[in-house]
Amino acid sequence: MRLIPHPVLCNYYVTYRCNAKCGFCDIWERPSPYITQEQAGHNFRDLKRLGVKVIDFTGGEPLLHRQIDVLLKEAKEHGFITTLTTNTLLYPKWAEKLKGLVDMLHFSVDSPVREEHNASRGVACFDFVHESIRQAVALGERPDILFTVLDNNVHQIEEVYNSFCRPHGLVLILNPVFAYNAVETGSGLSVSALEKLRQWGRKPGVYLNDGFIGLRLDGGNQVDKPVCKAGSTTIVISPENKLVLPCYHLGLQEIPIENQLYTLYKSKQVQSLIKQEGRLPACQGCVINCYMQPSFATHTSRYFWQALPGTLKYNRMKGTWKQFFR
Ligand code: SF4
Ligand code: SF4
Repeated sequence: MRLIPHPVLCNYYVTYRCNAKCGFCDIWERPSPYITQEQAGHNFRDLKRLGVKVIDFTGGEPLLHRQIDVLLKEAKEHGFITTLTTNTLLYPKWAEKLKGLVDMLHFSVDSPVREEHNASRGVACFDFVHESIRQAVALGERPDILFTVLDNNVHQIEEVYNSFCRPHGLVLILNPVFAYNAVETGSGLSVSALEKLRQWGRKPGVYLNDGFIGLRLDGGNQVDKPVCKAGSTTIVISPENKLVLPCYHLGLQEIPIENQLYTLYKSKQVQSLIKQEGRLPACQGCVINCYMQPSFATHTSRYFWQALPGTLKYNRMKGTWKQFFR
């Protein structure tokens, strides 16, 4: 059963460019422009009309956009909840200007070991994570540490928790790795690693969407009974100002928005593409967190109930729940 009849999230790709080269990501290989303030202004207005609550300013590396502070400020003025994940290379330069503009600020960490983290990111950015935490905390911000978990680093959760989170009272977000297209994500996650993740998700100061674990144990999205509601819950906008359907990772169709996002989204063409969410051949077994999270939150299924305690816990820790009722 659908609980919320409209899209709730926008994944706004401000650029595909990135200053890192992570082995588990291929976005940085794509040539890309940057979104313009004018396009964003039109889109913010229409996203509001469509009922979207949260805008995830993503990329690529979103801090490469030279007006990211202006974009975030405008989004906040429209009443959106904002979220942004960064590899932290540029955060120290932006810290003061971003103060108060990102409700859910995430710093990515792949390993508590400098050499391993830098190897995973393809650039030396480990020290920037610590410096970014120092600056953010000094400014009164509470960034979350986003740890992407694979079989080969699940044993490092404790060290990440103890070295990055506990000294500063920061939330640790456990992000189970997911594969897509031909991107190599290593060994994935075994059943015992998923169990360890579950145990960690119950600890104070740690957030895990338990629905992610349940979905993996069940073999992922099933095309004959899809749990994925990517297109109907999430609006994906590309740096070229195109609507991407049914999700970024599948990117079946990209339609120019031309300042008409509301009309375009309601059109027959888009609505029929949305109906294919979770039903295409590539959707079999899919576990892409970015779309499963809003899918679980807006439709009742067993994953809704699995996800609920963690979602409530995170919103309690961050105080963000109040903003959903504005
Ligand atoms: S920092 Fe993010 S966008 Fe850049 S390469 Fe790594 S995962 Fe991809
Ligand atoms: S199941 Fe996966 S690939 Fe298919 S629409 Fe959903 S998120 Fe995209």
